[in-house]
Amino acid sequence: MSAALALSSAGAEPHPDCPLCPRLHDFIAEWRLREPIWFNAPVPTFSAAAGDKTVELLIVGLAPGLRGANRTGRPFTGDYAGDLLYSTLHRFGFSRGTFRARPDDGVELTGAALTNAVRCVPPENKPVGAEIATCRRFLTATIARYPNLRAIVTLGTIAHQSTVRALGLRVAQFPFAHGARRDAGGIALFSSYHCSRYNTNTGRLTEEMFVGVFREVREFLESE
Ligand code: SF4
Repeated sequence: MSAALALSSAGAEPHPDCPLCPRLHDFIAEWRLREPIWFNAPVPTFSAAAGDKTVELLIVGLAPGLRGANRTGRPFTGDYAGDLLYSTLHRFGFSRGTFRARPDDGVELTGAALTNAVRCVPPENKPVGAEIATCRRFLTATIARYPNLRAIVTLGTIAHQSTVRALGLRVAQFPFAHGARRDAGGIALFSSYHCSRYNTNTGRLTEEMFVGVFREVREFLESE
């Protein structure tokens, strides 16, 4: 049994008013007043339309962007990171439909699911260690939710480390490295720099580098 399958899948989604991280809870409350029609709540996992049993790939991001997922309510929807991610998912057959950066655009994931290591938007996109650790209970349950999961792509160091810990493994044995693939308790763990505008603007991550990770994931899923 893989490390993930030994975990409980109960409680994979936080309550819409989850109070476990007071700073993030207060931040969302502030934005509910400022932008009352925004989503402004923990963002749920976006999962394959055909059901949990069809999910072989889980993608783990850092946290909702203020004007991205926190506004729209769907992971990676409404900001630059989503444009690159959804176009890449479509390219390799992990989604269908035309992405229009809206939760009602009809895009469906195929064999994949999208989630974040921290479900609530953090100020300046920076969750603190205690928030990452507290929200890991939902990441752990999300990994366990998919009985046929074979691969995880982590986007950035924080998502990578929290995923390693959620799998019950040691970060020192699974250091983050862009493009790396490791066997993590029976699941292939792929790592990429986060597809944020900052990383692409600075050249840390090119589109070619990002696409290359998902090409490897697709090849892995088809070859084994
Ligand atoms: S980040 Fe996670 S644990 Fe913290 S308040 Fe939001 S949903 Fe709850």
